[in-house]
Amino acid sequence: MQATLAKIGIHRDFDLVLHLPLRYEDQTHLHPIAVAPGGQTVLVEGVVRDSAIKFRPKRQLVCSVEDASGNLVMRFLNFYPSQVRQLAVGTRVRLFGEIRQGFFGAEMVHPKYRVVAEGAPIATQLTPIYPTTAGLSQANLQRLVRAALDAHALDDTLPPALIGKLRLPAFRDSVITLHHPPPAASLDALEQRTHPAWRRVKFDELLAQQLSMRIHYDRRKSIGAPPLQARVALTRALLDALPFALTGSQRKAAAEISADLARRYPMQRLLQGDVGSGKTIVAALAALQAIENGFQVAIMAPTEILGEQHFAKFSTWLAPLGVSVVWLGGNLTVRPRREALARVASGDAQVVIGTHALFQDEVEFRRLGLAIVDEQHRFGVKQRLALRQKGGKAGAAVQPHQLMMSATPIPRTLAMSYYADLDVSVIDEMPPGRTPVATRLVSDARRDEVIQRVRDACMAGSQAYWVCPLIEEAAAGEGDARPPKARGRGRGRLEALQLQSVLDTHERLRATFPELRVGLVHGRLTAAEKAAVMQAFTGGAIQLLVATTVIEVGVDVPNATLMVIENAERMGLAQLHQLRGRVGRGPGSSTCILLYQNALSQLARERLKIIFENTDGFEIARHDLRIRGPGELLGARQSGVPMLRFADVAVDLDLVEAARDAAQDLLASQPAVTDAHLQRWLGGRQHFLRV
Ligand code: ADP
Ligand code: MG
Repeated sequence: MQATLAKIGIHRDFDLVLHLPLRYEDQTHLHPIAVAPGGQTVLVEGVVRDSAIKFRPKRQLVCSVEDASGNLVMRFLNFYPSQVRQLAVGTRVRLFGEIRQGFFGAEMVHPKYRVVAEGAPIATQLTPIYPTTAGLSQANLQRLVRAALDAHALDDTLPPALIGKLRLPAFRDSVITLHHPPPAASLDALEQRTHPAWRRVKFDELLAQQLSMRIHYDRRKSIGAPPLQARVALTRALLDALPFALTGSQRKAAAEISADLARRYPMQRLLQGDVGSGKTIVAALAALQAIENGFQVAIMAPTEILGEQHFAKFSTWLAPLGVSVVWLGGNLTVRPRREALARVASGDAQVVIGTHALFQDEVEFRRLGLAIVDEQHRFGVKQRLALRQKGGKAGAAVQPHQLMMSATPIPRTLAMSYYADLDVSVIDEMPPGRTPVATRLVSDARRDEVIQRVRDACMAGSQAYWVCPLIEEAAAGEGDARPPKARGRGRGRLEALQLQSVLDTHERLRATFPELRVGLVHGRLTAAEKAAVMQAFTGGAIQLLVATTVIEVGVDVPNATLMVIENAERMGLAQLHQLRGRVGRGPGSSTCILLYQNALSQLARERLKIIFENTDGFEIARHDLRIRGPGELLGARQSGVPMLRFADVAVDLDLVEAARDAAQDLLASQPAVTDAHLQRWLGGRQHFLRV
């Protein structure tokens, strides 16, 4: 039983109190059969007048049930012999189900039913329906919850002043209302989760989240980190050598990071900025601050392509300053890898750039001062943690500073809820001179026009991307930095199909454009092959690059001004936005053509409309949050942050804000309240929240 309960998140008795209904059934009304409303589940009662196994054409049990007003047919496609005996003629039954007008008149298919005596009492309250699992019946769960509600005091963990200020109902009243709503309660408000009782529970949940994350945030201050003073000689040299000046946002972010690095406890800062906003240079400045203090820097990228790009960029920027930059990708052959590892261990490698290969056991840094994680949401918690723990020899009480970067802009509420234990810097302006990308939606039927457009652009000296069909799930896999074993099954076949499709497209386009140099890049190429193709594209040797979404992150070729995305209707918003960000990086005006197959689903149509109408990543993320929900947006299962069960950050903005403020007050002045509240909501499971 314990194991079964654990499957639905119930680990201790009190968790039953917090196991709230998904919905309710109204069995408080007995409807006369003849006038019972259709289109909803209703309770009726009658006597079985006829009962027989029929073949219509499938074997089924058909009973006719009659009350004073009329009769209906009850049908079971699956049934036990015991049911046949139980539903004998003359038996009085109560049925709960939806009445439909079938071929043989009014009928209920597979209703819930119960044999009753005449005049048996009717429920006076709504019946809660709980999330459950195999081996645990609704009835059993209902009984367990009722017992738990009786067994616990359910007193309030929050001070009366706070409850009063937020005008929330008491905890006890709230949970009792949610488990057993009084007949007068608004079913609508209960099911929409807008009822005050729901708001109370959501607030409590959000408060527990905020408290535990703030505690974690504060605890960081007791961990040591090397204070990395700003010495500015190298950073100034880099800034002087750049062909551009930093934007105001970049300067602000760099200053925030610089101040964090000088502290004696580890920085954990998220640097957010839309695609192309210029996060890399800010990271390079942070790296130099560590290097000037005699520490090493690790930079972890989610894909080989992105890693290679960083490697190229950091080499260009830092090598002239006498800084050694070393590549440690997953695809190094034995000997270069061994050499790279030796340089990392000796401290000779000052900046080490790689993919998930970086956090493997045999990678030992001499003095790691700063770990930079690009596209942090693509990594699992474990991987980030492993890198953090490479601060020095085992057992050392110091951690490196950590800078995470993300181009997936996150709406404010979500950031507040999920990143309460991080500091966040935002780059919210684009480098000057960017021309906004024009987006065109083109039906696949007009492919010829698109082909002409590609030809014109390339003949005029520009370059273009042709991104191949890829469906969202697979796309997540492609940039997924988790080791292959950890990925879902069945992906292999999907990858093979997609590989075939990109190969076909490449062949077709080569035939279409005999006059152009057409290149191909996809996830199955080795790192060296990918790098060679990207270099050819960057250098202009390739004019049209056929690609899968491996180019989604980090690729930076300013002369590419046209992008065609095939089957855009299959892609997610974040992905489309990231892809589109590959063009519009130079002075020329750029276009992104979204080719779609007709017969669009409602959702696909909505996505294309959003991407067409919006260029601001935050705005797109807000829409994404609305249509997909927060879990999807963040990849919450990976993120290590608890999924909120009740609160929904897409709609409960005011509660998130209130919980954050309350958490700060309570932590400062009422430690006992904090403890009691966390105990109630998380029991001993605080560690779930953030590793
Ligand atoms: P992202 O934030 O997506 O990682 P990058 O760091 O790759 O963006 O920057 C995109 C491009 O903009 C790069 O070519 C970079 O050199 C350039 N860039 C960055 N900052 C500026 C700036 N302040 N002015 C002009 N160009 C810049
Ligand atoms: Mg980047």
